[in-house]
Amino acid sequence: MAIKIGIPRALWFFDYYPLWKTFYEELGAEVILSDPTNKETLDLGVKNTVDEACLPVKIFHGHVLNLKDRVDVIFIPKVMSVYENEYICPKFCGLPEMVNHSIPGLPQIIDTEINFNRSRKSLKWTIYQFGRVITKNPIKIWNAYKKALEVYNQYREKIMDGNFPLDGEINEVLTQKNIKQKKNIKVALLGHSYNIFDSYGSMNLIQKLLDQHIEVIVPEMMDFEEINHNVGQLEKKMFWSFGRKILGTAMHIAEKNEVDGVIYLSSFGCGIDSIIEDLSERKTRKSAEIPYLLITVDEHTGEAGVNTRLEAFLDMIEWRKRDENNLSAHG
Ligand code: SF4
Repeated sequence: MAIKIGIPRALWFFDYYPLWKTFYEELGAEVILSDPTNKETLDLGVKNTVDEACLPVKIFHGHVLNLKDRVDVIFIPKVMSVYENEYICPKFCGLPEMVNHSIPGLPQIIDTEINFNRSRKSLKWTIYQFGRVITKNPIKIWNAYKKALEVYNQYREKIMDGNFPLDGEINEVLTQKNIKQKKNIKVALLGHSYNIFDSYGSMNLIQKLLDQHIEVIVPEMMDFEEINHNVGQLEKKMFWSFGRKILGTAMHIAEKNEVDGVIYLSSFGCGIDSIIEDLSERKTRKSAEIPYLLITVDEHTGEAGVNTRLEAFLDMIEWRKRDENNLSAHG
């Protein structure tokens, strides 16, 4: 019988899940995803995580609990770095240990370290470590990785073409809706992929915007080279990978001035956002002079409050487009 590998639908899932799913399926494992985030996942996560953790980490714990009793192995890699000379948030680095200490009785965890700051040779060794749970054959493991990379690149292309991987699934219906927006209003939604693409955690923000006929762009749709070029103009190197992506997008918006407003979706307690959000706001407000809305969510945030702020923000954009000659929308 095939080994059942559980992949939590949270954090790095939204960026890399097709890669790992394909990798393990190519090796003959059965991949089981946790259910999309819901109230139960959130409540379980909040109860079983240290209070100081940010919302996405709490949600991650809820997803691990969702998988705990129905898989043989849970996939929780120790993600240190996914680009050379850059780092991921420290909470990603300690995630396997944090989960293991908070949730007793877990099945085996795949907690191999991913660290692109090491040499290429050690990268091959890392891939082998991921695959050896299923087979000890290095050629089979390498071939599975190459196939997985192919599928991952196709996934990236789809997102760059304007598709939203909501809850991890490319949603063609939403893409069509995005393309056909009639109001001629375009909004950039900034933030970490796991905040933006988690329907429950984001309170369906993407869906809400599309329902209002707003065209939406997100950092994942940006060209990596352009992002790198933009952040390369900063005085100091941006060494957080998430920060580079979000800030690079904000700088693109500021330079091109092709969106009507910016929404930044952040999580309460996020150390990285405390800097990146502020820098993004300064860049977009200073150069593009467009309305900017910060939505910070935690487990207590009510949807009604978010809806009201969103409505006011969208009204402001509309008024500004319609009456800018008579009335300053900048206050
Ligand atoms: S980057 Fe922020 S939101 Fe993401 S895991 Fe780290 S602290 Fe949490």
